[in-house]
Amino acid sequence: MIFDVVRETIPRDELAELQLTRLKNQCDRVYANVPFYRKAFDEAGISPAEIRSLDDLARLPFTEKQDLRNGYPYQMFAVPKQTIVRLHASSGTTGKATVVGYTNRDLKIWADLMARSLAAAGLTSQDFIHNAYGYGLFTGGLGAHYGAERLGATIIPVSGGGTKRQVQLLRDFGATGITCTPSYALYLYEAARAAGIDIRELPLRIGVFGAEPWTEEMRAEIERKLGISALNIYGLSEVMGPGVAQECAESKSGMHIWEDHFLPEIINPVTGESLPAGSAGELVITTLTKEGIPLIRYRTRDITSLDYTPCACGRTHARITRLQGRSDDMLIIRGVNVFPQQIEAILVDMEGLSPHYEIVVSREGNLDHLEIKVEFSEDMFISDEIRHIQKREKGLQKAIKDYLGVTANVRLVEPQSLKRYEGKAARVKDIR
Ligand code: ADP
Ligand code: ZN
Repeated sequence: MIFDVVRETIPRDELAELQLTRLKNQCDRVYANVPFYRKAFDEAGISPAEIRSLDDLARLPFTEKQDLRNGYPYQMFAVPKQTIVRLHASSGTTGKATVVGYTNRDLKIWADLMARSLAAAGLTSQDFIHNAYGYGLFTGGLGAHYGAERLGATIIPVSGGGTKRQVQLLRDFGATGITCTPSYALYLYEAARAAGIDIRELPLRIGVFGAEPWTEEMRAEIERKLGISALNIYGLSEVMGPGVAQECAESKSGMHIWEDHFLPEIINPVTGESLPAGSAGELVITTLTKEGIPLIRYRTRDITSLDYTPCACGRTHARITRLQGRSDDMLIIRGVNVFPQQIEAILVDMEGLSPHYEIVVSREGNLDHLEIKVEFSEDMFISDEIRHIQKREKGLQKAIKDYLGVTANVRLVEPQSLKRYEGKAARVKDIR
């Protein structure tokens, strides 16, 4: 179901017009109200009045995560503090957290966009949604919460943690939808299994998973184990929170980025130059309607590409392809660039292994050393002898060398021996 037919299927020429009007308006507002932007615009030699087409976007200055950190906590706000009705902060996965503020209107738009997203995933007002994103400063919990209410669904505000109890609630309340990180979905599966509950036999039918990178292979694994349809959702606190982009149930291929509120670009992360549609690079987002913290050309550090081809669902908004990870996540191992997701894709695809793994990069002498620990599945644990395990380790090592060009030391470890995550998984340790 399309939540907001008029806006989600808006013809692209009308969308462009709307974007331009809104862009001008945002630039006027930040120039007038945020000293950081006044300075940045002046230094770039452009005034808001000179913006005449969307192509002028490329002339505007970027905003970096560091700029938000420098402005900690309130300097990037474009409205008086008293007008802000809620604060959130990013999870701080890659450093000091950034603080964001929302006006009443910001919160209304967020709920609308999140409702759009849940609806695009196939959820309706009839659904019961188990929300296991953390409630608090993290945007995941409250973002999904108000979106589900806006959709008219029944929200079950479980938040993170207490996994055993979550399994009982899933069963007792008969949730038909679930929102959490993809790694937590797997954790719930295991906890259910340990409690003798098969999630596939529960009414659960749709999962909306995000907040961390995951692969197509991981999707297949989750769908098989939980017996649900798993959809990808994207968002970041600086720009809003969850619901910036969402996969539709019709195509399950790329996430529609809600372009009436967010203007996306892809740039070369090294040179900053804009890249044409279809090229992979860093996603840059300009917010078009935000009041609390409007951002001009915000560098997300997330690597993806933009797809403007029409979608089977009828929505006209462009799609961002599944994220390859953050530019900060890229590991350079003996000169070879590797994203953890590429390793995940190989591991999860391999029979007899569980989707639980850990990557450690260290330095031995002058050489980078890559160690991958992955749990074998319960079934393999019971049946396999030790020499088979060694053979599998070698096989996996070879696959990684063949596909990624790096030498890894692979160790298969016992089921349940690696850490589990309730929120964002942190599977990579770079101790160089
Ligand atoms: P932090 O940057 O501290 O983790 P947030 O909680 O705001 O702060 O998380 C936003 C980030 O989470 C995004 O920039 C992106 O890197 C990651 N993320 C969110 N959704 C997805 C997704 N569906 N796929 C991959 N990464 C995602
Ligand atoms: Zn679609």
